[in-house]
Amino acid sequence: MTDTNKRVLFKQRPVGPVTEAQFDFDEQPVPEPGEGEVLVRNLFLSVDPYMRGRMNDVKSYVPPFEIGEPLQGGVIGEVVASRAEGYSEGDHVTGMLGWEQFSVADGRALRPIEAGGHPLSYHLGILGMPGLTAWVGLNVVGACKPGEAVLVSAASGAVGSVVGQIARNQGCHVVGSAGNDDKVAWLRDELGFDVAFNYKTVDSVHAAVRDAFPKGIDVNFENVGGDMLEAAIWNMAPFGRIALCGMIANYNARPEEMPPGPRGMTNLIGRSVRMEGFIVSNHLQHAPAWDRQCREWLDAGKISYRESVAEGLDHAPAAFMGMMSGANFGKQIVKIAD
Ligand code: NDP
Repeated sequence: MTDTNKRVLFKQRPVGPVTEAQFDFDEQPVPEPGEGEVLVRNLFLSVDPYMRGRMNDVKSYVPPFEIGEPLQGGVIGEVVASRAEGYSEGDHVTGMLGWEQFSVADGRALRPIEAGGHPLSYHLGILGMPGLTAWVGLNVVGACKPGEAVLVSAASGAVGSVVGQIARNQGCHVVGSAGNDDKVAWLRDELGFDVAFNYKTVDSVHAAVRDAFPKGIDVNFENVGGDMLEAAIWNMAPFGRIALCGMIANYNARPEEMPPGPRGMTNLIGRSVRMEGFIVSNHLQHAPAWDRQCREWLDAGKISYRESVAEGLDHAPAAFMGMMSGANFGKQIVKIAD
């Protein structure tokens, strides 16, 4: 085992899109675990859109990243030394750890991953936070019923691709939008979406949504905001539900630059539509049900999962920036070590 610990530090808060200026690297000695702690060799890390919010110095449901400290996120790693009950060398664990080769964590802040079964990295995606987000947003917040009509934006991403396949497996009419033609073809030809369109090249996002839902949208799973949300609002069916999961189109905007809107809110009154935001961490009681259902579908070949894998911690900043602008195809992760 090497005795240095390479880390990716948060250097400067961004104004607008994130660039390399936000990141720095350093090397420290590998830390020692104290009583109740575990030393983890990090194998995979997740880059996620919510991290853009943590780069701003604002109060939110998670605290902002601290300047000069490693960025943090979902990590899968292997225990290399343990002074915590319940963990031994060689165990695989997951937790919110640093963008670094080695992390020391309180044993209570980690979760074990049982050996065998699906690839370890799935626990950052379909078997982890994004998969649970899809399940909770669609079926709990969106109260989706079999046979309903479902719209999902950012449909080829970590959350959206799972939303669409859950809805398909539940017998729904599924429509998705994505930002290039390869992604659209994948949604239609491999994931079984009934309709998929490229929101960047259609003449009108409003018309694309209207044409795909002759009887209106029962559940809109909103990942993007902007034009997509407006198009949904104008085309909701009576008693439809909008599950507000994310607004990635606005994440780089300063408060004073936020586009006004969405327009058309009066439609929601006449049609008795419910629009509700949610954060997955408030719904963790649904994790066992999703885990069971997801494994059953994976084992039966009834759900597909796709990853974009950046190789090496050095490429974590580029992986994050690429994910924010659509360079990922499926769940974006970074492989740190074998
Ligand atoms: P994705 O894997 O979907 O990656 C982000 C994608 O967003 C990009 O690939 C890109 O795809 C799309 N995108 C970026 N900018 C725009 C834009 N201006 N307009 C339209 N699409 C854009 O990420 P996740 O699946 O991890 O997250 C999806 C959404 O879910 C995000 O909004 C995120 O914040 C939210 N989320 C919310 C959670 C909650 O608890 N509420 C938990 C997890 C995620 P494309 O090529 O199609 O443009």
